[in-house]
Amino acid sequence: ARLSNHFQFIDVGRQDPAKKSLKTRKHEFVEIYKPYTEEEVKDQSHRCLECGNPYCEWKCPVHNFIPNWLKLISEGNIFEAAELSHQTNSLPEVCGRVCPQDRLCEGACTLNDGFGAVTIGNAEKYITDTAFAMGWKPDMSKVVWTDKKVAIIGAGPAGIGCADILVRNGVKPVVFDKYPEIGGLLTFGIPEFKLEKSVLSRRREIFTEMGIEFRLNTEVGKDISMADLLRDYDAVFMGMGTYKYMKGGFPGEELEGVYDALPFLVANVNRNLGFEKDPADFISVAGKRVVVLGGGDTAMDCNRTSIRQQAASVTCAYRRDEENMPGSKREVVNAKQEGVKFIFNRQPVEIVGDGKVEGVKVVTTQLGAPDENGRRRPEVVSGSEQIVPADTVLVAFGFQPSPAPWFEEHGIKINNWGGVDAAEHQTYKFQTSNPKVFAGGDMVRGSDLVVTAIWEGREAAQGILDYLDV
Ligand code: FAD
Ligand code: SF4
Repeated sequence: ARLSNHFQFIDVGRQDPAKKSLKTRKHEFVEIYKPYTEEEVKDQSHRCLECGNPYCEWKCPVHNFIPNWLKLISEGNIFEAAELSHQTNSLPEVCGRVCPQDRLCEGACTLNDGFGAVTIGNAEKYITDTAFAMGWKPDMSKVVWTDKKVAIIGAGPAGIGCADILVRNGVKPVVFDKYPEIGGLLTFGIPEFKLEKSVLSRRREIFTEMGIEFRLNTEVGKDISMADLLRDYDAVFMGMGTYKYMKGGFPGEELEGVYDALPFLVANVNRNLGFEKDPADFISVAGKRVVVLGGGDTAMDCNRTSIRQQAASVTCAYRRDEENMPGSKREVVNAKQEGVKFIFNRQPVEIVGDGKVEGVKVVTTQLGAPDENGRRRPEVVSGSEQIVPADTVLVAFGFQPSPAPWFEEHGIKINNWGGVDAAEHQTYKFQTSNPKVFAGGDMVRGSDLVVTAIWEGREAAQGILDYLDV
């Protein structure tokens, strides 16, 4: 163990892990950060002030025991750190990689006051990656098995969070997903330069050993019916995500060369993972002038995938300023470094072209006077029209709920924006209007984050355990 140094944060500055060189990183679909060495992670973890009332824990949606596991890392107790980390999070090594830490745990760190926040995300990733490499596995020896089983629809973060809590409480989870691998958007959405897919296949093996059964390539509503699930299982959890693409509502969106963000990203992943069914599904932007519309995580992933596909140029048009971008700041920095050009305060009004896209007409916006809620809305600057030349346009305006046609038949109510009504604060957390059916993640809260989906899945599992009285 190390000697305690309460002034470590002064002696040692915040240091993120090294990134791979720009030259190789711009062509590779592999993670760009190198792992911490043992010495580095101990030094960084030891910077934690062990605040009495840690804001980072409150701000983390799953309320990780952050200062406690940072201390265990700095003392070299990786297995204990892994055990503790898994008490609150079902996929800590994933969250460590993809959470927008600047808005969550690290944004709340006391050391932001001029010293630089503790690198919480990278420490969290280190714990699980290292523990697994050393042979650690979640301890299931004390689990007392019940005779209950629960069907879970969707192997995304919400479904996985739910299955993790159920199996640790002796309830058998059977997870159905229409895709050939677990992870939902973690596998078929988020690109490999943020999260390598071996992380999920390793997780599938660990979860399977823990007692979770995965039935992949199985779509509920097509290959198996909801009625079958309701008949054969004690409860059903739905974590099916949101998959309706938002449109801009302006002319030209139907032109050849305009694509929704997700099909572009998924086709790229499918090719890299060998899941491609038809080569015609692949959308190549090699040698093209690409314009990406939007400013969130999905837009950033389109930008950086286009760079790796060797587009001639990549321009990202966003209607607000950089400060108000919704995604992770870290990924905007990475996109800039890799050669993406950003044009801020630009609102697209038309995609122009003769049958085929030739450019995007944008207008400049500026923030207007505050409205009745005090929010300054973007206003168009008159005479500011400009055409940004493009061969390919990728539209990343976000997602809306995509309720299944069979919800109504089974008494599962949706609210006025299409989200599933699942009551968080009732006796049985996240129960829907069908008492036997629970739901969580993007399909309940609207498209959000990996960590919030995990949290809702875990909370819903508590609701299911109470409902089943086990
Ligand atoms: P999903 O991950 O969408 O999983 C739903 C699963 O349900 C899917 O596997 C689907 O196949 C399955 N399913 C649906 N219907 C059926 C059916 N009928 N039968 C069987 N299976 C079914 N969040 C972050 O925190 N950080 C990021 O960096 C980040 N980047 C993102 C990048 C992109 C491109 C996108 C699109 C999202 C990103 N997000 C990010 C958001 C995050 O991925 C989602 O909020 C999260 O995955 C939601 O989890 P979920 O379990 O609710 O749904
Ligand atoms: Fe931070 Fe996300 Fe980990 Fe919570 S889960 S500590 S918010 S990186």
